[in-house]
Amino acid sequence: MLTVGSFAVLGVAAAQQSAVTHFDGNSWWSHVKFLADDLLEGRDTGSEGLRKAQAYAVEQFKKAGLEPAGSDGFYQPVSFMQYELDESKSSLALVSNGETKTLSFADDAFFSTRATHESVKVTAPLVFVGYGLKIPENNLDELAGQDIKGKIVVYLAGSPSDIPTALASHYQTAGERWKSLKAAGVIGVVAIMNPASMDIPWARISANRNHPSMDLAGAEFNETPGQQLGVTFNPAAAESLFAGSGHTFVEIAALGKDRKPLPHFALAVSLKAEARVITSKVQSANVVGKLRGSMPGLQGEYVVLSAHIDHVGIGAPINGDKIYNGAMDDGSGSAAVMDIAASLKAHPETLQRSVIFLLVTAEEKGLLGSKYFAEHPTVPVQTIVADINMDMFLPIVPLKILRIQGIQESDLGSSAAKIAESMGIKPIADPEPLRNAFIRSDQYSFIKKGIPAVKVDVGFELGTPEQQIFKDWLTNRYHAPSDDVNQPVDLQAAATYEEFTRRLLISTVNDAAKPQWKSDSFFRRYAAD
Ligand SMILES: [Zn+2]
Repeated sequence: MLTVGSFAVLGVAAAQQSAVTHFDGNSWWSHVKFLADDLLEGRDTGSEGLRKAQAYAVEQFKKAGLEPAGSDGFYQPVSFMQYELDESKSSLALVSNGETKTLSFADDAFFSTRATHESVKVTAPLVFVGYGLKIPENNLDELAGQDIKGKIVVYLAGSPSDIPTALASHYQTAGERWKSLKAAGVIGVVAIMNPASMDIPWARISANRNHPSMDLAGAEFNETPGQQLGVTFNPAAAESLFAGSGHTFVEIAALGKDRKPLPHFALAVSLKAEARVITSKVQSANVVGKLRGSMPGLQGEYVVLSAHIDHVGIGAPINGDKIYNGAMDDGSGSAAVMDIAASLKAHPETLQRSVIFLLVTAEEKGLLGSKYFAEHPTVPVQTIVADINMDMFLPIVPLKILRIQGIQESDLGSSAAKIAESMGIKPIADPEPLRNAFIRSDQYSFIKKGIPAVKVDVGFELGTPEQQIFKDWLTNRYHAPSDDVNQPVDLQAAATYEEFTRRLLISTVNDAAKPQWKSDSFFRRYAAD
């Protein structure tokens, strides 16, 4: 794999270099180095480290000549509730025929405080509901005909293959999934991770299970009202759930791997759960800057360029390192926002619409900073015409392919594809729909407000050596302390990516027509008429 500074030897990327005029990778990398320094302690929401990162971003925005566009200068304060489990006073067990088998939080299953906001003590029967999805557009209702009122449902994370990617992603959000479960009277949810789509090994997920979760303060932001508990189950221990049911987890996982339809049936075990949840308040902020457009009539419209500046902070040590630096996640995108702002000062362009440069907080807590911004934007929501989001775009191989989340959904997706092609880069849709990437970053907060959005990443094709490089990156570095500045990064790929993003931004800002959802896009429904 390439290391930092070695891009000069790259044949293919060097050929593309002729197209690059505004970026060299070095200024981007210097921002990444600042954000991912151990001094910033992983930039957890509400932490001193994140405040340092934000102060740095404000300085960069000022240098780039941006105007403050928050509600308090460049800042938009956001309030959170924090939820932390006291494991010593909590327990999980499976009960069958009067026998109780205690589960290990480390090895079997743990409470998700994202879905368990209050202390709870409950025993309830379990029902397996396949993927747990109700998708009217595809006549899929995995809850139909099942007796699940007052019960806890168990589902395998994933979706059947005949559901279009974006639609499947949308219905797998906690809020959408809960709507139909709540309507059916379900009280809690057990999610079995899908072994075919786990980015992070169980050991690392489990080691950080007690990191506090957060939600936006205010009942209106609770997407799972009435849900008493949420539990995450280790697939390697999931066989115990199916004992006596006439089915095995081996059978379920094999179907789930190929995204085949799953059976639905009552399980022979009940779940006995006791959770002690400690709540507290946390303050953080989004950082917002503005570059004013010059065209009367269009300058009152905004294109948002976004990334998240928070990461997950300090966690369970791995190889003696407990700082989860988040160099790529999402130091990379935040650095690109600052770098592109600077490039527009160094090499000004005529901009007809205005640009919002947005660095959100609490993405890692569930897209919360962007959700708050989308609910309370600092410019009128109907004047936001597009969001171009950057999150962990992974310049770890030469840039020959760009994966465009949302490529088929809107004119913005089409322009992104066109601009990539004009630079000799192949645009592709997501080749790994099971990873649900379309709903896993901040663009989704804008999509839900009807605003066309894309997230673009350095890509690969299935079955190529690059696929293995990305897979290894996720296994070893994603949400691990080794996502730091000591990893190999291809600065030329980063520079080309920034050039692509700058071109997409300028073309969206200057296109006389604002981007529209495609007539057959599912997400069109969110757009105001
Ligand atoms: Zn992340």
